Amino acid sequence: MTATQPVRNIHSEIHSNTSIPTADAKHYRKTTTTAVERPHSITNLGGATEIGGMMSTTKPPKRTYPPPTTPAFTPRRIHIITIGAGPSGLNIIRTLRQVLGNLPFTHIVYEKNHSVGGTWLENRYPGLRCDVPSHSYQFSWRPSRTWSNFFASGSEIEQYLIEAAKEEDLLKDVRTGMKVVSVVWMEGKGRWLVRMWDINTKKEVEEECDFLVDASGILK
Ligand SMILES: Cc1cc2nc3c(=O)[nH]c(=O)nc-3n(C[C@H](O)[C@H](O)[C@H](O)COP(=O)(O)OP(=O)(O)OC[C@H]3O[C@@H](n4cnc5c(N)ncnc54)[C@H](O)[C@@H]3O)c2cc1C
Repeated sequence: MTATQPVRNIHSEIHSNTSIPTADAKHYRKTTTTAVERPHSITNLGGATEIGGMMSTTKPPKRTYPPPTTPAFTPRRIHIITIGAGPSGLNIIRTLRQVLGNLPFTHIVYEKNHSVGGTWLENRYPGLRCDVPSHSYQFSWRPSRTWSNFFASGSEIEQYLIEAAKEEDLLKDVRTGMKVVSVVWMEGKGRWLVRMWDINTKKEVEEECDFLVDASGILK
């Protein structure tokens, strides 16, 4: 080496070398990466192991949700509770029977009043009548041809609802005198807890269900 020759920096030569053959370059990158990921420390966390900041499971973690033992799509019995036996509550009885058919389900409508009818049972002021034509204010599955007026009276609508419920055998799914006082979604069970006040026995009762239908009316 003469005094005029530049000093060769061995490190910069290695890192700036662009003439590494492709296969060697891959090997070089692989080796470099392995070196970077080499574990700095290993910490046992009781089941999982922390290796240099990365998690590696040495044992399967404890299962929080065990897999179901019944095959998928096996029908299970469901229980449905509806609050209120006004027009909506009566209609849902018939709809569920039609839609769910022979599937295993039970359905109960809890109604605080002594009878069905909702608005048309509770409101009895003079002159009460429907403000839409009666041929529109009726169940599509039970048209009446005997409305006495284009705008039927409240008592006539109430009577219509009671007759429709009897004809369709809807009343066997209704429990009157039961006021729902609270509903709670139980996350762990995936079910509703419904608390009711039994007006006849003057006792609070509880019942769980899979589905809850609120037909308690929007005009209270
Ligand atoms: C005075 C009045 C006049 C109306 N006039 C018309 C009209 O002319 N045209 C029209 O289209 N609509 C009218 N409406 C609206 C009418 O409420 C609806 O058309 C229809 O009655 C709604 O039916 P529903 O079953 O959803 O509710 P609702 O008829 O209100 O029935 C709800 C039922 O839920 C029960 N319930 C409520 N809370 C509980 C509880 N905690 N536990 C147990 N049971 C409970 C109630 O006792 C009731 O039986 C009127 C409403 C009122 C109040």
